[in-house]
Amino acid sequence: MTTSTLNISQRRKDFPLIAHSALAYLDNAATTQKPFSVIAAERDYYETYNANVHRGVYDISERATQAYEGVRIKVAQFIGADNPLGVIYTRNTTEAINLVARAWGAKHLAAGDEIVITEMEHHSNIVPWQMIAKETGAIIKYVPFSTATASPHWEELPRLLGSKTKLVAFNHVNNSLGTINPVAEIIAAIKKLSGAKILIDGAQGVPHLHVNVQEWDCDFLAFSAHKMLGPTGIGVLYAKEGILKTMDPFLGGGDMIKEVSMERSTWNDIPWRFEAGTPNIAGVVAFGAALDYLNTIGIQAIHEHEFLLTKLALELLGAMDGVTLYGTKNAEGRCGVVSFNVNGVHPHDTGTLLAREDIAIRVGHHCNMPIMRRYGIMGTARASFYLYNTIAEVERLAAALPKIQRLFAPVKSRNGG
Ligand code: PMP
Repeated sequence: MTTSTLNISQRRKDFPLIAHSALAYLDNAATTQKPFSVIAAERDYYETYNANVHRGVYDISERATQAYEGVRIKVAQFIGADNPLGVIYTRNTTEAINLVARAWGAKHLAAGDEIVITEMEHHSNIVPWQMIAKETGAIIKYVPFSTATASPHWEELPRLLGSKTKLVAFNHVNNSLGTINPVAEIIAAIKKLSGAKILIDGAQGVPHLHVNVQEWDCDFLAFSAHKMLGPTGIGVLYAKEGILKTMDPFLGGGDMIKEVSMERSTWNDIPWRFEAGTPNIAGVVAFGAALDYLNTIGIQAIHEHEFLLTKLALELLGAMDGVTLYGTKNAEGRCGVVSFNVNGVHPHDTGTLLAREDIAIRVGHHCNMPIMRRYGIMGTARASFYLYNTIAEVERLAAALPKIQRLFAPVKSRNGG
């Protein structure tokens, strides 16, 4: 097997929970481990320049502001945005999508308007639209999911889009199956069919693949720091500046205003208009360190490494009798996510038994209930990879499955009479 260009054994030493643990951590689609440099950046902020941002005229507050705003520039560069003012800090992807649904949707959606999303969205990209549709009278249309291709039926876009479509939202990479949607191609097709705004859920894409919002020409992009080596509690909404200027605030309070009187308030400039209250300064600073780490390695090298692991996992698990794989048969068109079931074994049992072997995976519906329904299952066992995972860990996962099958075999035959 070809080896990757990453020096994995060296890389693993950068992560406290990887370097000093026997655990095969294969739950990266849920959240990733954090390198020492990210933890150190957060600690350094608290130890050496902990102060609130903006308006402080003393040294450490100015330092905190510089660091906070400096990361905004780094984030913009990471996603190819020409203007850091289009980068809004949120808590996570979920909040970023809710921000659009509330602050954009409440203003731009009316009864009978249409929102188009796909059946393969994470619940975070379904529920906010259902909520705003209920409030405004807008209608949600779904691009149906095909189990044959493990992707939405994109050929149905001409039937679904038209003059009433105000927004189309879909994920770059799906979190249960790893399917990579050809975003540029789909955006081009949407633009031919309607003038709808386009939101990309980048939670599983931005950490693993090259993303350039200008090349895509999307209106919104949402993603989370914790899925790309950063801390929890910090996420990003990127939006085109012109669109942000048409939106009222999401939350009201300090920092998001220009002037407040007893009768009324006026709003701050963007992006601060959307960042009410004291933000997660430590989280932002640490996120900057995560971006530095990813930039040093290079997103292409990360993707190539994950591709090798995914290919191996699909080969090993695909060759096993009694193991069902979900998603595309080969690693092309996929990120490092492998969903499977050991036939006749509940995914929770599979996960629990793997945990006993020091292998961490996720089990359940992965916030993708509509997809699970299409497959006629309650959930899957899901292994997901990142830059520090090894071929040996994938082999350990594969070697553990026959043991689970053996353990459940007598139960199965008893039940079978
Ligand atoms: N979208 C996708 C595709 C995801 O995988 C996730 C996280 N599992 C989310 C949205 C939500 O991310 P967060 O929980 O960080 O808000």
